[in-house]
Amino acid sequence: MKKRNILLTAFIGISMLALAACGGKAPAESNDKEKLQAITTYSVIYDIVKNVGGDRLNVHSLAPIGSDPHQYDPLPEDVKKTADADIVFYNGLNLETGDGWFEKMIETAGKTGDNAPVFKISEGVEPMYLKSGGHEGEEDPHAWLNVENGIIYAENVKKALIQVDPENKEIYEQNAEKYIAQLKELHESVQQKMNELPKEKRILVSSEGAFKYFSNAYGFEAYYIWEINSHDEGTPEQLKAIIDIIRSHDVNALFVETSVDPRSMETVSSETGVPIAGTIFTDSLGKTGEDGDTYMKMIEWNADVIYNGLKNN
Ligand SMILES: [Zn+2]
Repeated sequence: MKKRNILLTAFIGISMLALAACGGKAPAESNDKEKLQAITTYSVIYDIVKNVGGDRLNVHSLAPIGSDPHQYDPLPEDVKKTADADIVFYNGLNLETGDGWFEKMIETAGKTGDNAPVFKISEGVEPMYLKSGGHEGEEDPHAWLNVENGIIYAENVKKALIQVDPENKEIYEQNAEKYIAQLKELHESVQQKMNELPKEKRILVSSEGAFKYFSNAYGFEAYYIWEINSHDEGTPEQLKAIIDIIRSHDVNALFVETSVDPRSMETVSSETGVPIAGTIFTDSLGKTGEDGDTYMKMIEWNADVIYNGLKNN
């Protein structure tokens, strides 16, 4: 009898906890409705938007973590979320706009026209250009890998949020100021770290040629198997070309990105005998709770992996 009472008490206790949990959730849900619903096209800018928007936003990233934002097939729920969103951010510079999935999606979602709350986060960045593979003269999207451009992104997010939600101007200004101060510090620390590598060691070989802006900012020479993610990734011609470059330059370490198929770089490594020194982040953050799960952490991670991979070779 006593045992049964204990069980019954435990049962009531659990039920009350469950009720308390539901009760706790209801106000949060109503708060959520007051928040702005924001959409970003991929995880890197998701994190920048979250930092500037803070508690005022619910943010949803379309291309999931680990996937390739150059080529993404939006799901019906992505279109619905975009249609319902208060504000939408995309990178531009030929990223989501390269194969056109983003334009198609915002058209389907009815978010076109001059007054649509759709913002290009890279507005004002000095673009760099592609040089090969039939993409000559097109913009290179990977501006965020130079943290100075990340600062421009954060400024643009602030301006866009103030435009859409002027009542909360001060919150966005405060969030942006704090975040940008951290980004400035990050840029300087990456610069300092990279400057510790002798100039002749600063050769960065990755699968996709995503490091133009990075190389320009931090003093590297960058080589790649393919210049931009598209349907031609790791063709025999591309593999031959990078193997020739590696053999004719003093390249002692290779790097592979988390958001590409690693097999091409593995082939390059086994053909040349040059090891893959580590995994780096370009077009996606790391999974939540794992390495590189914010914009700042992915940049720090890359700087460490690149530094350690190159310093002893
Ligand atoms: Zn890319």
